[in-house]
Amino acid sequence: TFRTDCPLDKDELGRSSWGLLHTIAAKYPENPTRTEQKDMTSFFTLFSKFYPCDFCAEDLRKELKADPPQIASQEDLSQWLCRLHNRVNNKLGKPEFDCSKVNERWRDGWADGSCD
Ligand code: FAD
Repeated sequence: TFRTDCPLDKDELGRSSWGLLHTIAAKYPENPTRTEQKDMTSFFTLFSKFYPCDFCAEDLRKELKADPPQIASQEDLSQWLCRLHNRVNNKLGKPEFDCSKVNERWRDGWADGSCD
């Protein structure tokens, strides 16, 4: 049986973290201020310093260096994060997610109304 009151393992931590990150990107402003853009970049930098899976965090820091957060709009940030997540999926042999569906998955709910 699955317990919800034990320390998170790497996969539970990953699932919860992606949920938080994609939801943050889903709620990011359409027209962020300069400060919001700067803060979002800092958020990912700091997240990658403290992410509590050491080899995941190290990999994330490399990814952020090679492809820094695109913080100009909600669309840019969500698409950038989707691509980042897909690179992790690739490394782990998981299927690629269709990034044209990212706002349905994390912001609006599926077009068939199944989340309403
Ligand atoms: P997850 O990958 O956790 O995804 C959760 C849900 O997000 C999916 O069910 C799907 O609905 C949705 N989704 C999937 N792909 C996308 C996408 N591209 N865009 C938007 N939504 C999507 N694990 C390791 O073993 N090694 C690592 O190096 C590693 N690095 C990580 C780095 C970070 C920053 C994070 C947050 C996690 C990392 N993980 C790593 C954990 C790993 O990515 C998964 O979270 C974990 O394996 C559980 O996978 P899952 O199949 O439940 O789905």
